[in-house]
Amino acid sequence: MEKVILVLNAGSSSLKFSVFALPAAGSMHPVAVGQIEGLGTAPRLKVKDGAGERMVDEQWDMSEVATHAQALQRIAGLLRSRFQGSVLAGVGHRVVHGGPEYSAPLLITPAAMTRLETYVPLAPLHQPHNLAAIRAVQEVQPDLPQVACFDTAFHRSQDIVGQLYGLPYEYYERGIRRYGFHGLSYEYIATTLPSVAPEIASGRVVVAHLGSGASMCAIHDGRSVTSSMGFTALDGLLMGTRPGNMDPGIVLYLLQQEGLSAKEIEDLLYKRSGLLGLSGIGNDMRVLLASDAPRARLAIEHFVYRISRELGALAAVLGGLDALVFTAGIGENSARIRQLVCEKASWLGVEIDEAANEQGSLRISRTGSRVSAWVVPTNEELMIAHHTRKLLAL
Ligand code: AMP
Repeated sequence: MEKVILVLNAGSSSLKFSVFALPAAGSMHPVAVGQIEGLGTAPRLKVKDGAGERMVDEQWDMSEVATHAQALQRIAGLLRSRFQGSVLAGVGHRVVHGGPEYSAPLLITPAAMTRLETYVPLAPLHQPHNLAAIRAVQEVQPDLPQVACFDTAFHRSQDIVGQLYGLPYEYYERGIRRYGFHGLSYEYIATTLPSVAPEIASGRVVVAHLGSGASMCAIHDGRSVTSSMGFTALDGLLMGTRPGNMDPGIVLYLLQQEGLSAKEIEDLLYKRSGLLGLSGIGNDMRVLLASDAPRARLAIEHFVYRISRELGALAAVLGGLDALVFTAGIGENSARIRQLVCEKASWLGVEIDEAANEQGSLRISRTGSRVSAWVVPTNEELMIAHHTRKLLAL
């Protein structure tokens, strides 16, 4: 029987999953990609097959599917009926935080779960849901091997100087340090470059992961040197609904002068800021680009400004720059944003090829450009599937 791997990415009200087939000959490929949205309110399952054709689209009764465990029961039922000739050999999870210690994927054991629980305070909005999904699989199929793949792991190659904050050193020891996120995306790009762009793979590369969450990573010879995200995924670039890097004094001001509670500040910083907060229109870059509203334009200008500022900082840490790579929803799909970013990076030696950029070519810089520019689609699910396959020796 053909083996398959299930990849799970659990959020607060959503559960994304992919099923990868592991043929005896040939490469691993997705045979189903789906998501359950509206967990706890109006759950809806949508699944496509490997060719992108619709397999399932159904609305569920909230009283029957309110938790991750119930959602997984449904997914397990679907997999059993659709893939009768296959055997589920393992599950790979996206787990946001691997703390200071995990620089590689981890086989789930009771001891590992206890350790991962201790990182909940470091990522209270994400880690509990990631761990809930692991427990839910244990309930459905206790003997199935599971693997945690961390968003922080790729960045553990960074040296201590870059991981420090200027707080008393004991805070570093207590775990208040720059962790960096989107690591599975950056690792995918770093491992893909040797085949798609060998001339830059061992060089000094900045990857801009521009999606609804956005960050940038300085990579040298395939290893993370520093990134724009720090202790939490609030740091760095302007994002869909998060402000990115800002003076911590603002948080004190909101607490002490404006009387906001910690919960209200959390809501402001995670859900009401960024492109949404600046534009007053929305967090979808497509909508903002199509809008004539002055604040939509201002939000886009600030988004690009922050990227160019960060690019300068990351290039300084790398001691120069060989290539700039765009990825994720905005990076892969918006020629306009790529053009604006590349124009602002002309001082570094980036010369954009406008036609190649419009076509969304792999290489979007002119021949002879001192710093080359690229578009490389990311694939975090495939990265998780690779790790799971390797760790479980499938
Ligand atoms: P991700 O988080 O990587 O799925 O990216 C989601 C973001 O990509 C959303 O803000 C979308 O607005 C943005 N996006 C997707 N397609 C496009 C496009 N063609 N132009 C601009 N932004 C896009």
